[in-house]
Amino acid sequence: MDCLFCKIINKEIPADIIYEDEHVIAFNDISPQAPTHALIIPRKHIATLNDVQAEDGALVGHMVKTAATIAKQLGFDENGYRTVFNCNPHGGQTVYHIHLHLLGGKPMGWPPYQETLKTAVE
Ligand code: AMP
Ligand code: ZN
Repeated sequence: MDCLFCKIINKEIPADIIYEDEHVIAFNDISPQAPTHALIIPRKHIATLNDVQAEDGALVGHMVKTAATIAKQLGFDENGYRTVFNCNPHGGQTVYHIHLHLLGGKPMGWPPYQETLKTAVE
């Protein structure tokens, strides 16, 4: 399968892996948008959040728990952090293997939607 993140899982493409277990792996984003910007991905290929099935609930829960554990290990759990799943073009998804972004180490703005981006996504 021609999937970038499956290739990272299979170690065909290198990544800066910070955590891995039987179900998920986490690695640093190649284009970090915060002092820490990691991606937590399931070993199972699921293309988008729309493809998550009821039986994947424990797996997605484990991804979320892994993000929280990494935040604690890196010491920004109390200050806080951002977790994001982007879905499809309007969500800004560019890699079609679900991944949970973990961003931490600085305060982040909210909301993410800006008028200047409006035409870019429509
Ligand atoms: P998204 O836009 O939500 O699909 O996020 C995909 C993310 O993957 C982006 O933040 C990219 O910077 C990141 N990315 C793309 N290629 C790689 C790579 N080879 N290693 C690590 N992160 C990557
Ligand atoms: Zn994949």
